[in-house]
Amino acid sequence: MRREGLFTRGDRTFGSLHKLLLEGPVYASIDLADTDEKRRFLRQAHPIFFMPLERAGIDPFKDKFPLTLRYEGTMRGTGGLRLAGEDCRTTVAGLYAAGDAASRERVMGAVSGGGAYNASWAICSGCWSGRGAARHALGAGKSGGPDRRALKPVGRHGLEAGRETDAPIDTTALVGDIQRDVLPLNINFYRSESGVAGALGRLDALREALGGSVPGTVQGRVRAREAAGMLTVARWMYTAALARKETRGLAALTEYPALDPRQTHRLILSGIDGIAVGTERVPHAEELGRADGQAKGEAS
Ligand SMILES: Cc1cc2nc3c(=O)[nH]c(=O)nc-3n(C[C@H](O)[C@H](O)[C@H](O)COP(=O)(O)OP(=O)(O)OC[C@H]3O[C@@H](n4cnc5c(N)ncnc54)[C@H](O)[C@@H]3O)c2cc1C
Repeated sequence: MRREGLFTRGDRTFGSLHKLLLEGPVYASIDLADTDEKRRFLRQAHPIFFMPLERAGIDPFKDKFPLTLRYEGTMRGTGGLRLAGEDCRTTVAGLYAAGDAASRERVMGAVSGGGAYNASWAICSGCWSGRGAARHALGAGKSGGPDRRALKPVGRHGLEAGRETDAPIDTTALVGDIQRDVLPLNINFYRSESGVAGALGRLDALREALGGSVPGTVQGRVRAREAAGMLTVARWMYTAALARKETRGLAALTEYPALDPRQTHRLILSGIDGIAVGTERVPHAEELGRADGQAKGEAS
């Protein structure tokens, strides 16, 4: 890993990359893989790593390429659509979720699952949800086929159904505004109550921008819906971050640097215009015993 004035050769600098990035651009090169055998091994071990670099015309074994961090802590890392049954059903009838889109909390707790957990969760939940969805479809019978059921679209956000003014939605500007509050490490990684609350207030205010008319092209419609999805997920993410007044796994707030056993619960968010926060007990969590002990101590 290289930075101007700093050259770290072959070091595993976990924990410091985010600090280096706050000081300026950071570059890497995999030039220690100096034989065909090593290069072949790396390519086979992690093809997804090489794909975007090669598409950008970068030879990672020779060229320097920029490093950055995309913090995916609260939503993609552990959270996601809440599963309401072992067949990966959600609370929306007929909607089944798997992999990154589904909550992984029951498998991972409060941390993300790199190093095979994510991939194995994707494969397992993909099988379970596929089976569940197929059963649901078969249960609907032939008379319940999509062309015979009275289906009603419920989506509004980023769609014509949610249009309130004639001015077109400027999706490029909207996505840029969302990213300004989600990508910076000093908001989303080094989280403080005031920083996150400020970002959430600005994101809440962006909802108005979704009330415009949706571009007529296929790409424009997809882009408007994507922007609506990004905005909603960002608001869920920061709402959840503020609801957990402790530091646990990937969830951290500088004002609450320690784990609080009394907050050993899952956060359940629902709603889009107004977001409600509920909790769900984690009955097997061992720190709950400590929390009960503390509560008894407080009562006596
Ligand atoms: C750089 C990197 C390294 C990782 N390393 C590890 C690791 O070491 N170990 C580990 O366990 N996990 C790792 N992961 C995580 C793991 O890859 C994911 O958890 C897993 O791939 C999730 O699978 P998925 O099927 O849910 O989603 P994805 O693999 O993201 O598949 C979703 C697919 O849906 C497609 N799609 C999206 N929108 C649409 C649409 N509207 N219409 C049609 N198709 C669409 C996408 O193009 C994509 O092909 C890593 C991820 C990344 C990015």
